[in-house]
Amino acid sequence: MQTIKYRKIIELSQPLDENVTSWPDDKTPEKPFLKKILSRYKENGFYYNLISFPEHTATHIDAPVHLCEGKYSIDQIPVENFIMNACVIDTTKKVKKDPDYQLLIDDILFWEKINGKIKSNSFIIMRTDWSEYWHKPAQYLNMDNSGIMHFPGFSPDSVEFLVRERAICGIGVETLSIDPGYSRDFLVHKILFENNKFAIENLTNIKFLPLKNFKMIALPLKIVEGSGSPVTVIGLI
Ligand SMILES: [Zn+2]
Repeated sequence: MQTIKYRKIIELSQPLDENVTSWPDDKTPEKPFLKKILSRYKENGFYYNLISFPEHTATHIDAPVHLCEGKYSIDQIPVENFIMNACVIDTTKKVKKDPDYQLLIDDILFWEKINGKIKSNSFIIMRTDWSEYWHKPAQYLNMDNSGIMHFPGFSPDSVEFLVRERAICGIGVETLSIDPGYSRDFLVHKILFENNKFAIENLTNIKFLPLKNFKMIALPLKIVEGSGSPVTVIGLI
């Protein structure tokens, strides 16, 4: 039998509403999250909405099939993978100096010097505090004049290392993408997904988590053949 002991729950998901910041491309509508009242108390005695949104809206899981054909769709990821031992690697100081900062293998090795070797099956969160810009889309995207975004992410080398040498289950960020904003080849996504690992993007409240020894639970919608799903994520500390 397994038990999870904790003294506090930290909510790690952004709200799912009309104010979500989304990936700027021509396929995503300007208002990606839509909600329409289908039934009102005074008409029918009960209330509910019709909602629609791209799978990659607000805090969400990217399933490997998002970029890699034939890999897990969101409904195929084994459900036990969504209860995780998690670690936080804090890069806030470096990101303050350089919004294009990529988490390096050195950051992982430095973390391990202090906290011990990352256990297999861990979920690795890059802390940047970028989530504080969630309600300021211009800062969250941080787009320059040529339309290139500037926010931090993982380096391809670091993810290769985490997958091969530390057998992690996935990685998470407080930004729109696990690749840095300026990336055009999405190598971090590809390395992760080719190995059938998943990602969580647009996390929040990472600053309230310890660096290690806590559990994270992230249960997506079971969308058949889905490429991802909004997710409610909690940290148990
Ligand atoms: Zn995504």
